Amino acid sequence: MRLVSAGLTDVGCVRKHNEDSLRMEAELGLFVVADGLGGHAAGEVASKIVVDRVAQFVQQTVEKDRTWPLEYDVSLNYDGNRLKVALLLSDQAIVEDIRKNPERETMGSTVVACLVQGNRATLAHVGDSRAYILNPEGIRQVTKDHSWVAEQVTHGILTPAEARVHPFRNVITQALGNGGDLDVSVQEFELQELDRLLLCSDGLSGMVTDTEIWSMTMAEKSLQDAVNQLIAKARENGGEDNITAILIGFGSDEVSPSA
Ligand code: CA
Repeated sequence: MRLVSAGLTDVGCVRKHNEDSLRMEAELGLFVVADGLGGHAAGEVASKIVVDRVAQFVQQTVEKDRTWPLEYDVSLNYDGNRLKVALLLSDQAIVEDIRKNPERETMGSTVVACLVQGNRATLAHVGDSRAYILNPEGIRQVTKDHSWVAEQVTHGILTPAEARVHPFRNVITQALGNGGDLDVSVQEFELQELDRLLLCSDGLSGMVTDTEIWSMTMAEKSLQDAVNQLIAKARENGGEDNITAILIGFGSDEVSPSA
């Protein structure tokens, strides 16, 4: 099975600047979406730092014989450790940038990053950028948002439908660059031949329902067409935030250029 991917980021219909960043390194099997926080000239810096630092560390750790820069988590496989440390280093890089540029003190970033090797996918995230698996049977959100409303849903206080429209729906409980302890979520799973993996910022998942995402993605033969349609739908539904989507699958699509 050949790995194929397509991705796009769009400013949306309301914001003046795009603070999302995406990175696709098909050779490494690495795909990253980061959603910057902190306003213009801060959020976009933060998300760019994240995608650059993650790509750099994953590139540096293709070979295993390397001095490990941070604690090695024995509960995770090698790729899980690569992504976890890549996210922790991104966090440090943002904090360091803020130290040098105090005017950017409010900046931070969410991230969802995936490493695909063969049919094995390793996923890491911080914040409310999401990953979904879509196939002919349906759509499943595989990341659990680090957000206030997601915690309320876990505790049975809010339903998922209530969480979706709650006034606090954008309140995240952790982000890269905030200087505190980070709890990076890492998981590993196998991709089946018909699976498509979607990484996205909340500008997509907040504007387009899971059902719409599923039916639109399944209706398109090409991953690039599907990504374009998802972005167009988020804009059609209001485009209130920056919109970013990466679709990864197996097949014969051309790999689109990195953004
Ligand atoms: Ca966002």
